[in-house]
Amino acid sequence: MIVQAASEIAQDFGPEYWREKDRKHTFPENFWKALVGAGFVGIIIPESYGGGDMKMLEMILAMETLTSESCGLAGTWFLCLTSVFGGLSILKHGDEKQKERYLPKIVKGMEFCLALTEPDAGSNTLNTKTSAVEEGGEYVINGQKTFISGADRAKGMVLVTRTTPLEKASMRTLGLSLFLVDLPNPAIEVNPIEKHGINYSKTCDIYINNLKVPKENMLGEKDKGWYHILDTLNPERMSFSAAAGGIGILAIRKAVEHAKQRNVFGTPIGSHQAIQFPLAEAKAKIEAARLLNYKAAWRYGEEQPCGAEANMAKIAAVEAGIQAVYHAMQTLGGYGYAVEYDVERWWREINLIRLAPVTHQMALAFVGEHVLGLPKSY
Ligand SMILES: Cc1cc2nc3c(=O)[nH]c(=O)nc-3n(C[C@H](O)[C@H](O)[C@H](O)COP(=O)(O)OP(=O)(O)OC[C@H]3O[C@@H](n4cnc5c(N)ncnc54)[C@H](O)[C@@H]3O)c2cc1C
Repeated sequence: MIVQAASEIAQDFGPEYWREKDRKHTFPENFWKALVGAGFVGIIIPESYGGGDMKMLEMILAMETLTSESCGLAGTWFLCLTSVFGGLSILKHGDEKQKERYLPKIVKGMEFCLALTEPDAGSNTLNTKTSAVEEGGEYVINGQKTFISGADRAKGMVLVTRTTPLEKASMRTLGLSLFLVDLPNPAIEVNPIEKHGINYSKTCDIYINNLKVPKENMLGEKDKGWYHILDTLNPERMSFSAAAGGIGILAIRKAVEHAKQRNVFGTPIGSHQAIQFPLAEAKAKIEAARLLNYKAAWRYGEEQPCGAEANMAKIAAVEAGIQAVYHAMQTLGGYGYAVEYDVERWWREINLIRLAPVTHQMALAFVGEHVLGLPKSY
């Protein structure tokens, strides 16, 4: 049912829609309205707040279908920003007041963003410097974040701060705290960064200057933000695995169509093993990664540890997806480089998934240490 409903939306937003949005750098208003209207934005939010009452596995099925049937990364991106960054974070760690305040609005399309990455900390989140200092009944927040997607439009933000300086924390993993912040806010300056792809959505630098946030906007427990945010980062990884596999499937479909009809030496180019085998191999790897991602999503839904599966699925999906798009480009020859054929756009999109939300190397480091039991490599 989920796949069918997502598929129906995807039919209305074909590659030409995304080509234009990417070229003109415009937000896909109609697509967002369709996602909200069909209930996808609230898919994992309980019925009592107006949502679909489903779990991460259903979310992954929706993302995968939207992405692989026509939308590319956009099929995952917007749901991840609002439903995972906003919805899931609040669902997991919000108090009743926060849930009542935000979740029904999210179901109706209130956009969210996650402000985690900092210019100096990068992959080392524990080096977060944005400080939140308690003064009376509120926190005063100062700092800088970078690469914050959707911050230009979002009305809500999950902000990762440090409430106890690293040198004073009893453990390195303690001292971070999360806040819910309403946007726009005069204490937050938002500057979009020009980027390589996904130009239908802006990714921004943000500067926070004496932002005052009431104490009751803290999400979860003080100083335990690192543990809380993992409950958002694992589903974010699953979302981007769904995106990587989905983009790969989209590119393979395009390549197969082309390879069947393109004939330059008397037979369709798809009959040559150099064209056929890499596509077949990528398809096999995508399908395997997909099952691992389902397992990660299922475990998350059952509140079981899922970090190992989430990281391994991301490693496998992104490599398979990149192989698929790379060979789709080769299959299309010169047309693979032409904007009109979309493969170059998917290539720009899929390369992000090696860098974000977690870099390929950091995901490998997680598996090395936590799955294989090897010494920490950094
Ligand atoms: C388009 C886009 C959208 C984004 N959206 C968001 C968002 O909405 N919210 C948000 O908070 N962030 C967002 N990010 C940030 C993204 O999560 C980070 O860019 C990413 O986590 C990597 O951090 P960094 O760029 O600082 O790289 P760095 O941490 O500087 O890493 C650079 C390179 O060094 C490697 N490296 C670093 N340390 C090690 C190590 N110990 N072992 C092996 N290799 C290592 C990395 O793997 C990487 O290849 C976005 C980024 C982009 C590009």
